Amino acid sequence: MSRKKPGNFIVVIVVGCGGNIGSHVVAHIARMAIVDHVVLIDRDTYEEVNLASQDILPSDVGKPKAEVQARRLRAIRPSLIVEAVSHDVTTLPIGTLRGDVVLGCLDNNLTRQFVAEATWHLGVPYIDAGVRNDGLLARASAFLPSENAPCMQCSWTNEMYVALEHVYSCNGAEAMVPPTRSPSFLGSLAASLQVIECSKLLEGNLDRAIVGKQVLLDANSQRHYLTRLPHNDHCRFDHQVWDIEQIDQDPAQVTLGEALALGGNGSAGNARLAFSFRPQVFFRKKFTCSSCPSVTERVGLREALPTYVACDRCGETTEEEIVGIAPELAATALDPSLLGHSMVSIGFRKGDVFTVTNSDQARRFEIGGNRA
Ligand SMILES: [Zn+2]
Ligand SMILES: [Zn+2]
Repeated sequence: MSRKKPGNFIVVIVVGCGGNIGSHVVAHIARMAIVDHVVLIDRDTYEEVNLASQDILPSDVGKPKAEVQARRLRAIRPSLIVEAVSHDVTTLPIGTLRGDVVLGCLDNNLTRQFVAEATWHLGVPYIDAGVRNDGLLARASAFLPSENAPCMQCSWTNEMYVALEHVYSCNGAEAMVPPTRSPSFLGSLAASLQVIECSKLLEGNLDRAIVGKQVLLDANSQRHYLTRLPHNDHCRFDHQVWDIEQIDQDPAQVTLGEALALGGNGSAGNARLAFSFRPQVFFRKKFTCSSCPSVTERVGLREALPTYVACDRCGETTEEEIVGIAPELAATALDPSLLGHSMVSIGFRKGDVFTVTNSDQARRFEIGGNRA
């Protein structure tokens, strides 16, 4: 019996959908009638070695994991809306994680930290799952964001942060932990624990769900543990659930000037704009014409900016110069012509969340509007 309200459209997001746990999770999700829309995120492609531990077929080898799992879901339930995202979740706009529940089927703490923090800020429940082959352990824990609730990092030790630093210094995700060579049945056990809790959250059975708790099955010694996770006053995460205002327009339809003006009294004024989560740096470039006095300015994330433009007055070659690097765009420091540029030309994508600060007031906006 579903407690779903009429017109209530349920979105479940699975991060790491193609792995040891995730490939088992997706089939269960497809068969949950309460779910209308599933978003599958995985940056990887299936390899020969995955056949042993993951719920896939030999014909899936060489294909993106998210695509393979999306096809499976559509075959199980053709009416389900399925989105496949074949990117590293840490490179996506955090609005991609806006759903009713996010399930993390991840094998490393760097990505876990990203997803747990992003979902918390968005106010989206997060269910984490994991396995440990050495003890035949399968576990799941659920986090419901609020100021005083325990977050995932409340129980992280210094050693875990030191290990993360090591990963950062080794140039990120590629240098990460070796893949857990866990058997398919252990991943399937963790997947079931996770989907059971997902079902409780979606049905509104909060008192029965493992919110702020961890359930752990030790299949070696047949033990079952339920642990209440502590709230740590010295947690390194700020525990803030953000108030985010939705902008229904696409980033291509919104100019930088319009975005800056959102923070105050209808004009860009003294406003400053930055990415809200893990701020990125904006580059300011000048392109000086080799034959006329024309200078063209551009501003944006490094990957969004051209390395070369022709002079817009005479068409001659120009010389590029980086004139500024900053984590925020300040209206007063920008050439007025730049205010007419679209947010997409600066590097913003649908689902990005940014903060506009004007005087002492800061407001957060999500560009591109809600899903569905
Ligand atoms: Zn915490
Ligand atoms: Zn020129």
